[in-house]
Amino acid sequence: MLENEDFRRVFMAMPMPSLLLRADSPVFTIIDVNEAYLQATGSSATDLLHKGVFEAFPDNPDLEDANGVSNLRTSLDLVVCTGSAHKMPVQRFDIPIRGGNEFVLKYCLTHNVPVLDHEGKTYFIIHSVIDVTAEIENRDKNEIAERDLNKAKDLLLQAEDITQIGSWELDLSNNELYWSEGVFRICGYEPGEMQINFATGLSVIHPDDQEMALQAMQHTIEHGDTYEIIKRFIRKDGSIRIINSRAKIILNERGEKVKLAGVFQDITERKKTQQALEDAYQEKHMILESIGDGFFAVDKEWKVHYWNQSAERILGLSRTEVLGKHIYSIYPEQQYATFYTNCVIAERDQVTMHFEEYVEPLGIWIDVSVYPSPSGLLVYFRDVTERKEIQKQFESVVNNMPGITYRCLLDDKWSMLFISNGVEAITGYPAADFVINKTRTFSSIIHPDDLNATFIIAEPLSKGEVFSIQYRIICADGDIKWVEDKGRGVYNNSHQLIYIDGVIMDITEQKQYQETLLRLNEELNKRAQDLAISNAELEQFAYVASHDLQEPLRMITGFLSQLEKKYKHELDDTARQYIGFATDGAKRMRTVILDLLEYSRVGSVDYEKEPVNIHQVIAEILEMNRNDLIRREARVFFDGMPLIRAARTPISQLFQNLITNALKYQSPDQRPEIKITATEYPSYWQFAVADNGIGIEKEYFEKIFVIFQRLHHRNEYSGTGIGLSICKKIVDMHNGKIWVESLRGRGSTFFFTIEK
Ligand code: ADP
Repeated sequence: MLENEDFRRVFMAMPMPSLLLRADSPVFTIIDVNEAYLQATGSSATDLLHKGVFEAFPDNPDLEDANGVSNLRTSLDLVVCTGSAHKMPVQRFDIPIRGGNEFVLKYCLTHNVPVLDHEGKTYFIIHSVIDVTAEIENRDKNEIAERDLNKAKDLLLQAEDITQIGSWELDLSNNELYWSEGVFRICGYEPGEMQINFATGLSVIHPDDQEMALQAMQHTIEHGDTYEIIKRFIRKDGSIRIINSRAKIILNERGEKVKLAGVFQDITERKKTQQALEDAYQEKHMILESIGDGFFAVDKEWKVHYWNQSAERILGLSRTEVLGKHIYSIYPEQQYATFYTNCVIAERDQVTMHFEEYVEPLGIWIDVSVYPSPSGLLVYFRDVTERKEIQKQFESVVNNMPGITYRCLLDDKWSMLFISNGVEAITGYPAADFVINKTRTFSSIIHPDDLNATFIIAEPLSKGEVFSIQYRIICADGDIKWVEDKGRGVYNNSHQLIYIDGVIMDITEQKQYQETLLRLNEELNKRAQDLAISNAELEQFAYVASHDLQEPLRMITGFLSQLEKKYKHELDDTARQYIGFATDGAKRMRTVILDLLEYSRVGSVDYEKEPVNIHQVIAEILEMNRNDLIRREARVFFDGMPLIRAARTPISQLFQNLITNALKYQSPDQRPEIKITATEYPSYWQFAVADNGIGIEKEYFEKIFVIFQRLHHRNEYSGTGIGLSICKKIVDMHNGKIWVESLRGRGSTFFFTIEK
């Protein structure tokens, strides 16, 4: 019989790592542990002794499916109940590494053997483990290798199918040829459908390529290297496939050439795609090279990878100078802020950006479009310097022109696309407010009462006609100005209105002037009416007065002549002289009254216009003044006198006055010469009565036409100073003008016109 101590020694010496457990389910306290166990688990006896076995070896908490504890508990409970040993199948244990929270993975075979007391009850359990981790891992590896091999075989077959690859081998000792299934498929046969030997192998190659294929094989067999050629196969159905053929020599362990092994790959589709891609690339390339626009492309790092001919020409940099370089190493960022800002936006927001940039070193303006692309950015540009110059000149011309020149959209805001600087001079608002900053719309400065009326321009614009409107604007200083706005539409090829071009002029002064004129006209009309009334009254008065004065005058003259006749002898010389003076005065008064009567009659009678033969009129006048003419030995010339439409009596009086004046105002020793001429004008006749008389000083040219104005004393030349004023009245009646040209001592010419 073994003593306890002996039992312990045996236990400690056991080569199998073992624990001695008390059968105090559910704790299963560790009573003892042998050396082999301590070594296998890396524990020390104090780590384990007197602890429950599950306390010492808990499940790995990181493993959700860990079941080592529950399996062991089942086995131990079984041993306690049955009193028989229990062998657990290979079990995975996560053994905690002492002094840390790490676990090490172990696979173990576990034996739980009961130690029974004298009543046959389980007293202790010997728990022994055999570490089979290495074996398990090895077995796993082999399984994986086998699986991988099968998988590789499947994959190879699949790959042959997908990639249209087939492999072949030629045994150099007997020229026996082997084809994989892939080769059959490439050639359009079912695998094994055809007997394969060197001759059949050669027969699938296109006759034109056989020589080349044989040479490549020959060369490789001789030199022991590899080859890669492109050749054509003729398939079973007669179609032609393009094949990439690669082969190499296989040596045996003694270094002798034993086989030629190779693969065929059907690259017909790839070639087609490649060709299509190449064609597309060539086409794109040709387009990019032939467009007049400059074009370059940058990658994601903004390195230039395309730079067309036009870019070389416009920017003066050859493609070799720029390809592969960062665009900002060619064009510094700080100098081309607009360009880089737009590029950043195009890339960030994946939007197309359009803008203009000045290339300072070249002194040119370019119009740029930047497009985002999957590989970076595409940049199109063109030299617009000339257009810019013209635009600048246009703007400078327009900005120096009076008024406001503009281009706007037909919307309710009068949105300006361009407005000349003139807008500031008229409204006080700078042009930038309307166009660049857009802080103000033009409609906002149009007087609210006039705004709606401005939209009537839509109608002429729809017909392609010029519009002209007037409205008020409210200026920056609150002033209200009147403007005239004239413009017309600009249309595209489909006759759609794209914008309006127009000119706005300040017409405030003109408007004020017009208003003043209107007021003045009204006043004038009123005055003319007043004058007409007072004239009529005056004429009436003159007529009445001169008519009524005749009677008392006749009485005075009558009594004076009675006085002279009856008392001539009783009166002294002085009294007789006085009577002479009185008689003379009365005579003169009679003449004045008669002339005045004549003058007032001219305006008061309504004359009918009738054909008047001027030649006849003059002849009659000369006849009437015959005596005078003869006495003065006067000569009168009046050839080519016309027939005119006029009021006969006044016209006759007009000629009479001018002819008698021409006779009268002569120096006594002069022989009068009177020339009467007539000139026809489209709407009137012009007559001239010229004499060789005493002439008139220039300062009196106007005055002589005023009633009672005379230049001489009646002792020198008789007269009342009414004749020419009557002439003026008659000419006025015929809507004409009368004036005189004269040189003192050289004669005078009186001109007058008569409306036709
Ligand atoms: P009257 O002859 O009765 O004085 P008119 O009205 O006919 O009045 O003429 C006004 C004035 O014009 C005349 O007093 C005269 O001084 C001047 N006058 C008119 N006709 C002539 C003329 N042919 N030559 C020079 N002076 C003239």
